Amino acid sequence: MEERPSQVIEEYLLVLYKLHRNGEKAKAVTLANKLETSAPTVHATVGRMQRDGLIKVNRAKEILMTQLGIEMAESIAYRHNLAEDFLCNTLGIPWYEVHKHAHQLEHAMTPLVVEKLAEFLGKPEFCPHGTPMPGLSLPGDSFTLDQAETGAQVEVAMIGEDLEDSVELMRVLQQQQMMPGQKHTILERSEVMQSITLDNESGQSVLPMHVAEKIIVIPSAPQA
Ligand SMILES: [Zn+2]
Ligand SMILES: [Zn+2]
Repeated sequence: MEERPSQVIEEYLLVLYKLHRNGEKAKAVTLANKLETSAPTVHATVGRMQRDGLIKVNRAKEILMTQLGIEMAESIAYRHNLAEDFLCNTLGIPWYEVHKHAHQLEHAMTPLVVEKLAEFLGKPEFCPHGTPMPGLSLPGDSFTLDQAETGAQVEVAMIGEDLEDSVELMRVLQQQQMMPGQKHTILERSEVMQSITLDNESGQSVLPMHVAEKIIVIPSAPQA
């Protein structure tokens, strides 16, 4: 009776989808690392997904998503972003931790709930961290924060999805006003410290470059 893939398969699909979108190759070992599970478990699930037509495995043992797999992954990503919007903007759960709750909820939403929730929320186009809904994209002039030059003013567009996994880091980012729509001026870039210092109306903050690399910004004209 169960038409939808199990939660485990949905998790696999999401990981594969992110790799796919980033143009990265996926192998069983990549999945085992990302999902913190053993190689035999991954092999069993990958075999099941292959039989279900969600993925293909090529001669180089790379896992490729089929059109069906991509569609399913997009549907999960949509549910995830919708759940985050609801938890954050309707229920008032803190921005920095909605990801983890949405991660559970995304598997439990029926198509009718998804449809009604999307209507209720006014069909959001981004998650509260700026991730576009599947099929939509960020503005063409967006770039990663580590590329911003000293003196430039930028507006935060999106916090990379990898960063969402760390509640502690997200909490710091929220304290630093590193949230979509917030404007920051680059005060200093330090190659020695591998950090970037920013100024926002609520104060100054320092980010390590490896975090700045995962924050997408757009140029913002300084206020006259
Ligand atoms: Zn999320
Ligand atoms: Zn999000």
